[in-house]
Amino acid sequence: MAVHLERPELDYPFAEPPQAGSFAEVATGIYWVRMPIPGGIDHINLWLLEDDDGWVVIDTGMATDQGTDVWRAVWRQATELSGSQKPVKSVICTHLHPDHVGLAGWICERSGAKFYMSRSEFFMCQTLVADSMRSAPQEALDFYREMGCSEEQIDYYRGRFGGFKQLIRSLPRVYNRLQEGDCLTIGGRRWQVVIGDGHSPEHVCLYCEEDQLFISGDQLLPTISSIVGVWPLEPSENPLVGWLASCAKLRELLPAEVLVLPSHGLPFRGAKVRLQHLIDEHHAAFEAIVARAAEQPLRAMDLFDILFRSEIGNHNLIMALSESRANMNYLVAAGRLTVQADSGGVLWYTAAH
Ligand SMILES: [Zn+2]
Repeated sequence: MAVHLERPELDYPFAEPPQAGSFAEVATGIYWVRMPIPGGIDHINLWLLEDDDGWVVIDTGMATDQGTDVWRAVWRQATELSGSQKPVKSVICTHLHPDHVGLAGWICERSGAKFYMSRSEFFMCQTLVADSMRSAPQEALDFYREMGCSEEQIDYYRGRFGGFKQLIRSLPRVYNRLQEGDCLTIGGRRWQVVIGDGHSPEHVCLYCEEDQLFISGDQLLPTISSIVGVWPLEPSENPLVGWLASCAKLRELLPAEVLVLPSHGLPFRGAKVRLQHLIDEHHAAFEAIVARAAEQPLRAMDLFDILFRSEIGNHNLIMALSESRANMNYLVAAGRLTVQADSGGVLWYTAAH
C-alpha cells in the first residue's frame, strides 16, 4: 500500500529459496518446493509433508508446463530421498486461487490421492471455473462502469474474461471437507485447521502448536499484502471485515516465535508484529480515504495512489479496482462514507457527516 507504515523487522531463518524443481527441508519431514509462476508474484511456495505411508502435498501450483516439470523433478528427488517411491496420499489446497489449486486435478488423477479443501473454497472454485466458459456477464460490465472504467477498459476486461479456467488443469470432482478446528495427523505431528477469511471465502491454514509451525497460504505473507477484493459475483461484499477479524484472530492464536511457512516470500518468524502491521496499514488507508472524500467526492478509481505503490495499467486494473471497492464497501458499511450514483451510473463516495 502507498499508505505505508514502517515495516517491522522479521526473522528469516532460510536466506535462499530452493531452486525450482528441487526442495529443501525446513523442519523434520517438511519440505519446501518453489515453483515459478507467470505474472507479478513470480513464484509460489508449496509444501510436502512426509507421512509413514505417503506424501501430503499442500498446494499444487498453476497449470503451466513449467508447473508440471517442477512436480516431475520433485518426485524424482522425493524417491531418492525415501529410497523408494512413496505415493502421494493427499492433496490439500489452502484456497481456490489458480496458483494454489491449478494442478490439484492433475496430481490426484495421476496418484489417486485424496483431495482436501474447505467447502466454500471448493464450490466457489467450481462456480468460477464454470463461469469462465461463458462470456462476461452484463452485470460485471456494469460493475466496472460503476467504478468509473472507460469503454476501452471495459473492452479489455471483456476480452480477457475466462482466464481463471486456463490456469486450472482440472479440479478434482470429489473432495474431503476441511473446517475450522479439524485435526490432521501427518508424520506424527498434529495439525489444527485454522480458517481465515477476506482473501478468499474459507481459507485453510494449518497450525502445529507443538512444533510452532504455521502453514499460512496467502492468509499471512511476510512482505506483500494479500488481495482483499470485491468482485462482480458479489458486489456488496465487505471482505475487509473478515480479513481484519482473521488478522486479529491469528495475532492472538500464534506465538511470537512460530515459524510461518507462507505461499509467497520466505519462511519467517514475527507473525504477531506482521499481523499488527497489516491491521494498522488498513486503518491508515481508511483514514486517508475518508480525509480525501471530505475534500471532494471520489470514485473507486480515485484511490489507487493511496492503496498501491505501483502504477496501475490495464493489466492490473481489475485487481486494483477490486481492492478499492473493498475499501469503499467497508467505509460505507462503517458509516464513514456515503455513496451516490450520478446520471451515468458512476458511484461517487463522500465523507459522512
Ligand atoms: Zn490467493
